[in-house]
Amino acid sequence: MAFELPALPYAHDALEPHIDARTMEIHHGKHHAGYTANLNAAIAGTDLEGQSIEAILAGCDMNNKALRNNGGGFYNHSLFWSVLQPNGGGHPTGALAQAIEDSFGSFDQFKEQFSAAAKTQFGSGWAWLCVHKGGKLDVCSTANQDNPLMPGITCGGTPILGLDVWEHAYYLNYQNRRPDYVSAFFNVINWTAVAERFASNK
Ligand code: MN
Repeated sequence: MAFELPALPYAHDALEPHIDARTMEIHHGKHHAGYTANLNAAIAGTDLEGQSIEAILAGCDMNNKALRNNGGGFYNHSLFWSVLQPNGGGHPTGALAQAIEDSFGSFDQFKEQFSAAAKTQFGSGWAWLCVHKGGKLDVCSTANQDNPLMPGITCGGTPILGLDVWEHAYYLNYQNRRPDYVSAFFNVINWTAVAERFASNK
């Protein structure tokens, strides 16, 4: 059973002005579609066919560049679309809000750490909010399409929020102004979706 490009749960222009429609069209329809097709090609005829993407990443041979880059690309973007929503942002509530306070001191301190991770990731990569067993949260960043589920990625844990800081994610609208894109991201976060990921992975 091959992996399929997940449909976007909103229209291409739904996240404007924070993320523009043309970027969403290319990012989902070309980049994510490409990772999906190349992941399927990388696992075709191997014993990885039929495994979950989480299992594939956890057991990933990091020297297998096609699997590492495209398996990561498939998973990372699937997570990314699911934690965005039009008119999102604000603050998390309930158990996730409490865990953020316990782990970072306050929501503002979390936001500062996450934004710093996103802004200082050199070149292409991702910033993550991860949960460890027991509910402890932390922030990290990874290069290229790596993510914390992969072996040897030191931040570990399970990602519950991710921000794509590849130039393809923001360059059309923001050019080199990555910090503005990082700030805008906080206006489209779907905290309900993040809280669901927290609850099922803590
Ligand atoms: Mn991307």
